[in-house]
Amino acid sequence: MFRLINVQKEYDTGKHKIHALAGISLQIPCGKAISIVGKSGCGKSTLLNLLGGLDRPTFGNVVYKGTDIATLNQQQLAGYRKSAVGMVFQSFNLIHSLSAWENVAIALAIGNVPRRKRKAEALNLLSQVGLDDRACHLPAELSGGECQRVAIARALANSPDVILADEPTGNLDSETSFNIMELLTSLNKINGKTLIMVTHDIDYARKFSDLIITLKDGQIISQS
Ligand code: ADP
Ligand code: MG
Repeated sequence: MFRLINVQKEYDTGKHKIHALAGISLQIPCGKAISIVGKSGCGKSTLLNLLGGLDRPTFGNVVYKGTDIATLNQQQLAGYRKSAVGMVFQSFNLIHSLSAWENVAIALAIGNVPRRKRKAEALNLLSQVGLDDRACHLPAELSGGECQRVAIARALANSPDVILADEPTGNLDSETSFNIMELLTSLNKINGKTLIMVTHDIDYARKFSDLIITLKDGQIISQS
């Protein structure tokens, strides 16, 4: 599904140059659950953002189904972000003034789903993550786990092949974390979505993924 060839990412803050990724080469097969682990600052989020088309590498190739993402123009890259990948973040990133279903409907609007179809489709997606009865609640009226379920429903809008999750349980207690990991892996096992997640929890990585990639200082130090 993805082939990364000598991917490098340098951030230039004006004062300093930070080599966040120092030559990552990697193949990610279709339909697998993959965990990316490593200490804070080792480049996990940078790697996930490149896979999600949120950023471009400084050097090297990020190839998705045979197309180098770096060769896409802005419009094509936006198309890639809205239909190929769905992203989930540690801090949920919901819009506070919108209800659960409206948060999901925004992603459907971006995916050009006609207005009259959005509510039914958003409710359908919320039902897939077990939130039928919370559709009209605002994020402030939901628990952390419920907010993350809304974010996962939003990530599923427009039927992406890949779910990218950056520390999806980082803000949740351990029981809720386990449930969210089970939900994400069920999307992989039952719906066949390729799942790539960043986690700092090696036990979760071992329990819930087929392949664990360990980064250190922007490089892969093991794949197991
Ligand atoms: P991780 O997710 O593993 O904690 P990141 O990918 O966020 O690590 O960061 C890798 C390195 O790049 C860190 O040294 C971080 O400070 C730096 N970095 C990340 N994003 C930026 C940015 N936008 N500008 C400058 N430096 C950044
Ligand atoms: Mg990070």
